[in-house]
Amino acid sequence: MTRDSRYDILFEPIRIGPVTARNRFYQVPHCNGMGYRDVSSLAAMRGMKAEGGWGVVCTEMVEIHHGSDVAPYVELRNWDDRDIPTLARIADKIHEHGSLAGLELCHSGFTAVNLYSREAPMAPMAMTASSYHFDPVHARAMDKDDIRNLRKIHRAAALRGKEAGYDLIYVYAGHGLGIFQQFLSRATNDRSDEYGGTLANRARLLREVIEDTKDAVGDTCGVPVRIAMSEFMGEAGLEPKEVEDAIAMMAELPDLWDLSLAAWPKDSQTSRFAEEGFQEPYIKGVKKLTTKPVVGVGRYTSPDTMVRVIRQGIMDMIGAARPSIADPYLPKKIEEGRLDDIRECIGCNICVTGDWTKTPIRCTQNPSMGEEWRKGWHPERIRKKERDAQILIIGSGPAGLEAGRALGQRGYRVTIADKAREAGGRVARECRLPGLSAWGRVRDWRLLQIGKMPNVDLYLESDLTADTALEFGADHIVCATGAKWRRDGAGHHQYGPVAVDAAANVLTPDDLMAGTKPKGAEAVIFDDDHYYMASVLAELLVKSGTKVIYVTPASVAAAYTANTMEQKFIQARLIELGVAIHTSEALSRVDAQGLVTACVYSGKERRHETANVVLVTSRKADDALYLDLKQKGAPVTAIGDAWAPAAIAHAVYAGRRFAEEFDAKPRDVLEVPFRREMIALANG
Ligand code: ADP
Ligand code: SF4
Repeated sequence: MTRDSRYDILFEPIRIGPVTARNRFYQVPHCNGMGYRDVSSLAAMRGMKAEGGWGVVCTEMVEIHHGSDVAPYVELRNWDDRDIPTLARIADKIHEHGSLAGLELCHSGFTAVNLYSREAPMAPMAMTASSYHFDPVHARAMDKDDIRNLRKIHRAAALRGKEAGYDLIYVYAGHGLGIFQQFLSRATNDRSDEYGGTLANRARLLREVIEDTKDAVGDTCGVPVRIAMSEFMGEAGLEPKEVEDAIAMMAELPDLWDLSLAAWPKDSQTSRFAEEGFQEPYIKGVKKLTTKPVVGVGRYTSPDTMVRVIRQGIMDMIGAARPSIADPYLPKKIEEGRLDDIRECIGCNICVTGDWTKTPIRCTQNPSMGEEWRKGWHPERIRKKERDAQILIIGSGPAGLEAGRALGQRGYRVTIADKAREAGGRVARECRLPGLSAWGRVRDWRLLQIGKMPNVDLYLESDLTADTALEFGADHIVCATGAKWRRDGAGHHQYGPVAVDAAANVLTPDDLMAGTKPKGAEAVIFDDDHYYMASVLAELLVKSGTKVIYVTPASVAAAYTANTMEQKFIQARLIELGVAIHTSEALSRVDAQGLVTACVYSGKERRHETANVVLVTSRKADDALYLDLKQKGAPVTAIGDAWAPAAIAHAVYAGRRFAEEFDAKPRDVLEVPFRREMIALANG
């Protein structure tokens, strides 16, 4: 197949200073939790984006000095010449497939707490150092020597980047993380010298560093500037109007303007809180200020939308982090006219949790993300079958569908059976909840792929027992039968069941998703799960006219979602909806009058009277069928939630893993099933 001519514009080459990108697909810098610790993994991951056709592939933020150390976060380092081989490994992988390699140099100012290097942090003004752990550390105000040194540091890092082979060397003023944004914003710059006060003064260091970088590497490297269009604090900080004025002052100085929002949670909003293209109102004024290419982001996965934003003059290149994670082959698929095959990002931010938890990136839609080097997984390819075999998969949730798809791709005969009327398991149910419709893409993409495979059949309304499954006569049975929400209160805080009176009206997420209505006009949701479910159910109930009280043992609502950068949005939404939020209360017991909680600190009890107690605490594997089959000696494996309940991303990964390992040489339990980077010990 060839591409539709209406997408030709996306494949025009774009000049960025002295270098030229082969098309308009621009993988903007993005974090990944691998950094300096998992360099080979990181290089393979970036290389995969280049293989998939992205014209530009960038690194994440790269520390330019030991005094800009963001430990415990694991990013790349460019502290001295010894870091060049690491940086070069990544650039080389990107170049292997003809893409431009971009290096995002970063001095993080007051957000570099220097926990590893133990240097005193520095910033435009004296202030607390900002970390998400509230470290008791301050940043000192930079004096003129510090500013001179910072310019020297940035220049040296740029030269090392050039030596490592990068084509684009960034000046970073975004996300509240880049120190040049901190100078630009009056929220973090109270200086009275020529680097503070007027906008021209606050922009002075940014201008000087762009000039320094062009002077150092501009002969062969393009110099993009990444800048935050808004800090969302009104006139107290940066707003689009003022940032546009700053851009106008330096319009032709850099080789490209890469636009974003600050801080990162505002920039990478989930589909629950922002639509595709949500940044357009903030960035649309920039292109008329400059002749240099403008890059913007906004979770673009639709080629028609991409064409629109270029034709409307909003941007010249389509910036993407998450769409390139969910589908490294997105540009190639458009080029080859395979739009159906695009694995669209669902906007869940599981990828982002890698950075926050300091572990390698994973993706709900793309289970090979982060496994390209470790396990040799490829987002598009998988090794052919070893022999003829028939596999019966019970359950068509994310685990069953992905296992069926990947085994089908390998060439096995696959039958997927599900007792439900529709495919998709939990995804089918959850994507009907408020704000989660994009999650249905997990099911839709897999059903579409399976639909193209003559060797994969899907049977719905097929409730299998061990006997009927065995009668089928498959060579192997996979139980992907999922999990059920518990109604006994066991969760993260109380590991075991709490006392639930038989007269109590307990509702679980499964009940509400199945359409059970609460009795009367109000409900108490007890959240000891801490992810999205309780808050989404609160929205559901409020929207159907129920007054909701939300109770949790944590100190905030939906505590885990700090890792998906949604926590503040979720708590704000609950407040807007009029949901009363009670924190630090653990569950003591549930009875016909409601529930009794105990303060997690003092133990003081409190009664919440209600006719409806919604328990969102934990799930239990639906593994009875698996255990029965195992006991009968069947060749059977349980995967996904039926093995150990977790997020949808884990289930998709489990499906892929089963397909990858089926018919492979069995591994001993003592063998590590993936490659890992080993530290080369210094000499003494
Ligand atoms: P996962 O997240 O692990 O993929 P899900 O809960 O999303 O799990 O999906 C499990 C699916 O398995 C559900 O669609 C459910 O209807 C199906 N299922 C469970 N038990 C059986 C059974 N005995 N026979 C057929 N389908 C089953
Ligand atoms: Fe998109 Fe979710 Fe994958 Fe991130 S983890 S790229 S948000 S699908």
